[in-house]
Amino acid sequence: MRCSNPYLPLSRRRLFESGVGQLSESPVRCRSRLGDRCAGCSELAAGDWREVIRDGLLKPGEIWFVTLTAPSFGKAPIYKSKFGGFAEQSGWNAEEYAYEYQIQWQWDFSKLWHRTTQRFRDFAAAEKITRPEWIRIAEPHLSRSVAHQHALLRFEQPSPESTQVCLDGLWKAGWGEMTSAKKVEGSNFNASYLSKYLTKSTMTKPEGLSAGAADALNQHHRHLRSAARRHLVLHVHSMKPRTQRLYIERMGQRHLAVSKSAGWSSLTIGDLDERRRAWSADASKIPVSVVALD
Ligand SMILES: [Zn+2]
Repeated sequence: MRCSNPYLPLSRRRLFESGVGQLSESPVRCRSRLGDRCAGCSELAAGDWREVIRDGLLKPGEIWFVTLTAPSFGKAPIYKSKFGGFAEQSGWNAEEYAYEYQIQWQWDFSKLWHRTTQRFRDFAAAEKITRPEWIRIAEPHLSRSVAHQHALLRFEQPSPESTQVCLDGLWKAGWGEMTSAKKVEGSNFNASYLSKYLTKSTMTKPEGLSAGAADALNQHHRHLRSAARRHLVLHVHSMKPRTQRLYIERMGQRHLAVSKSAGWSSLTIGDLDERRRAWSADASKIPVSVVALD
C-alpha cells in the first residue's frame, strides 16, 4: 500500500531551506481517500474506517442501516443499464435539470445531517432514552453526480415504537423520497461495503460508460461546474481562491465524506494511526527483506 504522491510537509521543507532540517527527513503520505488520486492511501483510509465501523457494530444495541438520498433535480444524464455499465438516458434535458438546486442542496448537505442528528437528540430527550450513536459515510450518486448518504444507527435502548418514531423523523429532516431504513445484525453487516465508498467522490466517473453516456456525463459535469461558479458569485463572499477552485472542480461537494458520533466506537482513526506509527518504529528493526513485503 505505497503512497503514489508522497510529499515533504511545508514545515519540514521550510526548516530544510533555512538550514535547520536535514536532507534525510522523509516525505509523508498524501493520505488521500480517493482511489483515483492514490490507490495506496485510499485503501489504507477505507481499511481504517472499516475497523471503526466494525468496532461500533460489535457494541450492544440494535443496528439500523439507513440510506438518505438527495431529492430529484430532474432526469439524470445516464443510468445503470441492466446489461451492465452505464448508458445515456433518453429524455435527459440540461435545460430542465435543476442545476442551481442541486448545487444549493450540496451546499447545505452538512447542515442537513446536523439537523438530522439534532432530531436524534430531541427524540431521545422526548423518549427519555440515550440517543442513538451513529456513523455516516457520504456516497456519490454516480449517475447524478450528487452525494447521498449511508448511516448506521445503534439504539442502545431499542423499543419497536420509539425506534420507528426516530426513523420516521429522518424523512422529515429534508432528505429525498428514496430514503430507507432496515434493521441489520451487526455481526453480519459487511463493513467493507460501506467503507469502500470513501474511495470515490462525485467526480469519480463510473466504469463501463458507453460513448454516448460519457459525452452526456461530461456535459452534465460542465453544467454543474457552471452552476457552482454562479453559486460562488451570488452567495459566497469569503472563500479562499484555492478553495473556490476546488469547490468548482468538485461540482459543489464540500462536506466531510465520513463522520461519527463520539460514542459510536471506542476505536478512533487516531488510535489506528498511533498503532501504525508504533508498528513502523518496530518494523525498522526487522531485516529489510521482510519490510519489503509491504
Ligand atoms: Zn498517497
